[in-house]
Amino acid sequence: MRTARRAVGGFDVRIGGRSVATALGNESQKANPKVILDLHTHSIKSDDGRAKVQNYCQWIRAKSVPIDGFVLTEHRQFDFESDYSELASKFGITILKGAEVETEYGHVLVFGVNEGLYNEFDFTTIGLSLENVIEKCEKHGALAAPCHPGRPRVGMVAHLEEHGIPNGVRIVETKNGGSRGDEDEVAAKMAEDLGYLGIGGSDSHIVSHIGRCATRFPTTLATEGELVEALKAEEFEAISNKQ
Ligand SMILES: [Zn+2]
Ligand SMILES: [Zn+2]
Repeated sequence: MRTARRAVGGFDVRIGGRSVATALGNESQKANPKVILDLHTHSIKSDDGRAKVQNYCQWIRAKSVPIDGFVLTEHRQFDFESDYSELASKFGITILKGAEVETEYGHVLVFGVNEGLYNEFDFTTIGLSLENVIEKCEKHGALAAPCHPGRPRVGMVAHLEEHGIPNGVRIVETKNGGSRGDEDEVAAKMAEDLGYLGIGGSDSHIVSHIGRCATRFPTTLATEGELVEALKAEEFEAISNKQ
């Protein structure tokens, strides 16, 4: 046990090609249990994404981007087949998977996708019912959060007048790395007015944008299930690293 603990401090010690710091990541993080995740990213799996997941990892390390990991939220799909665990181990970066779906209130991030949820509605379509997405997420232990709500057309604020305030929203993305003009201010104002909590994500489609915005959690967090738990615990903070 002593030997193992000593090894945690040495970040270059490797066992079977896997860094000890990664293998014992939960233990080493206990000393400083704050995890910063970029909750909104796209890879080449998304039709308009140009970044490979490996390149995101390389960029994060090369530029010391201040995040511990990221969630791939590909457009209108859930990527069941890709396994990023080797990359995650190699770079010591948490890589989780989610989705970005399209509703009558605009785009919505979904965390904690599983087969049960995937069979409840058609991820590939546009114009899903937000309330139905939220309800089905609750049923299957997932969580839905409208993203870039201040953006024209594809953000929630633009649709409030027509559709009214939807039931079930608790969290919205208040800091988005791709926001222009006052989009984040519009999002923050809505969140304040309606009592929503805010998360942050870069909405990166190219490597250099990863980590522009992120979310800080007070707990350790290594799986999609733990991410949903951490979001439901409602103790997190949206942060921006935009220059
Ligand atoms: Zn979007
Ligand atoms: Zn997006």
